[in-house]
Amino acid sequence: MIDIRCSGCGQRYASYLPEHADKRCSRCAAEVTWDSLSPEARRAIDDAIARGAMAGLIAMREADPPILLPHAMDVLQLRSKAGPSE
Ligand SMILES: [Zn+2]
Repeated sequence: MIDIRCSGCGQRYASYLPEHADKRCSRCAAEVTWDSLSPEARRAIDDAIARGAMAGLIAMREADPPILLPHAMDVLQLRSKAGPSE
């Protein structure tokens, strides 16, 4: 187990993977992914998440570029916390 400081928010987290050093924590990585999506893709994914977690994960897999598990779980969590309003 190694201790890593996120390059985005500065939060410390532990990882077993040394190659994760200098990377962002899962939450910051999800924000970067979300910011890189087109407005259409964001709307489609948010609409799907409103119908349920599974629908949200499927919508992310169908996005361009696709967001795959396990990273999709981080994005799902990020958007679920964000709530329905922008
Ligand atoms: Zn972070």
